[in-house]
Amino acid sequence: ESPYVAISSSDSSGKVWELDGDDSISYFIKKKLRVWCRQPRGQWELGIVKSTSGEEAFVSLSNGNVMKVDRSEILPANPDGLENVDDLIKLCYLNEPSVLHNLKLRYSQGMIYSKAGPILIALNPFKDLQMYGNKYVSACSQRTMNGPHVYATVDAAYNKMMRDEVNQSIIISGESGSGKTETAKIAMQYLAALGSGGNCAIENEFLQINRILEAFGNAKTTRNNNSSRFGKLIEIHFGSTGKIFGAKIQTLLLEKSRVVQLARDERSYHIFYQLCAGSSSDLKEKLNLRAVSEYKYLVQSDCMSIDGVDDAKNFDQLMEALDAVRVCKEDQELIFKILAAILWLGNISFQVDRENHIEVVEDEAVNSAAQLMGCSSQDLMTALCTHKIQADEDTIAKHLTLKQAIERRDAIVKFIYASLFNWLIDQLNKSLEVGKKCTWKSISILDLYGFQTFQKNGFEQFYINYANERIQQHYNRHLFKLEQEDYELDGIDWTKVDFEDNQGCLDLFEKKPQGLLSLLDEESNLPNASDLTFASKLKHHLHPNPCFKGERGRAFRIRHYAGEVLYDTNDFLEKNRDTMSSDCIQFLSSCNFELLQLFSKMFNQSQKQTVATKFKVQLFKLMHQLESTMPHFIRCIAPNTKQLPDIYDEGHVLHQLRCYGVPEIVRLSRAGYPTRMTHQEFSGRYMFMLSEANLSHDPLSISVAVMQKFNIPSEMYHVGYTKLYLRAGQIDALENMRKQI
Ligand code: ATP
Ligand code: MG
Repeated sequence: ESPYVAISSSDSSGKVWELDGDDSISYFIKKKLRVWCRQPRGQWELGIVKSTSGEEAFVSLSNGNVMKVDRSEILPANPDGLENVDDLIKLCYLNEPSVLHNLKLRYSQGMIYSKAGPILIALNPFKDLQMYGNKYVSACSQRTMNGPHVYATVDAAYNKMMRDEVNQSIIISGESGSGKTETAKIAMQYLAALGSGGNCAIENEFLQINRILEAFGNAKTTRNNNSSRFGKLIEIHFGSTGKIFGAKIQTLLLEKSRVVQLARDERSYHIFYQLCAGSSSDLKEKLNLRAVSEYKYLVQSDCMSIDGVDDAKNFDQLMEALDAVRVCKEDQELIFKILAAILWLGNISFQVDRENHIEVVEDEAVNSAAQLMGCSSQDLMTALCTHKIQADEDTIAKHLTLKQAIERRDAIVKFIYASLFNWLIDQLNKSLEVGKKCTWKSISILDLYGFQTFQKNGFEQFYINYANERIQQHYNRHLFKLEQEDYELDGIDWTKVDFEDNQGCLDLFEKKPQGLLSLLDEESNLPNASDLTFASKLKHHLHPNPCFKGERGRAFRIRHYAGEVLYDTNDFLEKNRDTMSSDCIQFLSSCNFELLQLFSKMFNQSQKQTVATKFKVQLFKLMHQLESTMPHFIRCIAPNTKQLPDIYDEGHVLHQLRCYGVPEIVRLSRAGYPTRMTHQEFSGRYMFMLSEANLSHDPLSISVAVMQKFNIPSEMYHVGYTKLYLRAGQIDALENMRKQI
């Protein structure tokens, strides 16, 4: 548990014990009302307070035992009727045990979705709950579906886009394995159904696109058997009638090290296993393809299959998907050829010759790789063992050490795979192409890699968790900062709700010149720097900082919004530099293989930035794009880390709820005005409901007149200087009246 989360159970409750009035302990004793009582091991049990004596209370628990506890260890429980509410706003007491209990009860009944004011909370069921598909799509779009659902959130975004003519975004976040990618697919499915006008082709196309993205960009980790190892933003474009006109995929840094290096019990990208298991004997022969167990890159982690996953069947589906998005058979074969070449490159071994030089063992591996890449075995062997340096007119060939040669081979492999992935995204985008003329507005769906902490955390976790800090900032800004600033600016009397701001941690990363990213780049540019000098540089420059702690040797800690993470700087500099020496690129361009030539051309055109800088630029671009949209947040929660159904680990859920500031959001939205429209907008939309007699020219007066005419109680709205603020539910009521007129 992170010691840094600043919410204690008493200050997160909407109502805490007061000395007098209906909420006092004596009232609970008199009326025999239920309370939450903290147990020695921290969990909460329901009980009834029998009596108090000073600071102590005697509580009779549901199991019959009576416990003596400190008064601070009890919190009010919600009345029976509020046991299972679909929006946490409706809870009378908003303390942590009440929120946890409510979600748990719903989860046990298969109700995985709940609202917390404006956000949708989605608990991962880890089983098929049969709550998606045509029947549910129609129920949702025809408003006959009860309760929260991804469909309903997406429906709201779609209607808002149509009504307000503003781009929307669906921002899905949560830790690894919490269900973001599944949720994104469910959202896309609903939009496809709404925006296709009964044409199933789009829905099928989205399905196939996701299949391809997952085959090449997802892998089994210890947290998630289908973990996304890249971030994605899918923009779906609509015409002014609400029909889909195309889509665009943007991706964020793929974890390419996975192709060459695996942690125990993890797998490389699904596609490798699918190809080996599912390709036809014809294709196998062409690619000289073997079983997974024969490839060093794949066997190193001692994990070659996933329970319940049929790689061969998935390969068939992948081929169908490639057909469906119009990747032609020739291109498909090129893709598979590259994958096979990668696998054979991984099997290449090196030895030391008589002159103590490193050389490639000439065996099937090198011959197959060379053949697939379109070069001679000799050229490939030379390229792997020597580093050619251009000195004036001459080229000098430097012999490499074993370690350097392996690094060089792996660098080539990572480069090829990442290029293949990017190329594939380009192909998908061509197939989804947005017709420029007809597009009008868009809905973007953001699904990044989830926050991660392992026992050992490296460069990948570092940038993944940084991206999650950025998203958290976006979320805080929209749900806490902007909302409260609005109230203050518009003269609303307002008691500020505090939230855990993560600006400090973002500054730690982004500050110039002494933030983590700048220091990393600086150190990466020094020829003699090492992971150790980088670690001491951090300790030197970043101390003291409440979000940073230097540790012994190469390690350091960051205090993230989602908890503390211990990083090991091992390989940080190398991975950040991500060098591909120019002679390797030259070698690839000399291969008789069009795609490899294309990749090397793309490399030569790309800016040579460090990975950290490139990542930051890409991330900023994504976030900037999102800034101009109306956000809808979905917070995914993993009920356990075992990926199993029906297990609700309270501590784990609570930790995630705290990270998301759920109790604060509920408090804020209960006290706040979720709908706000400028008087201009509001009067423009509802003025026609007034009779001529009470028409005025001034938008503010029109807003007031509409409120009065429809008898909206005064505590349900607030008239600001510039905007009209409405409490939850009021705008729906007005919309219903509007439709009836
Ligand atoms: P990562 O950050 O590692 O990519 P993620 O948040 O994208 O994780 P998912 O891959 O979406 O997690 O979900 C993990 C697994 O949980 C899925 O493969 C699926 O088995 C299950 N799952 C998630 N959502 C649902 C759902 N709504 N219904 C049924 N199963 C689900
Ligand atoms: Mg995912």
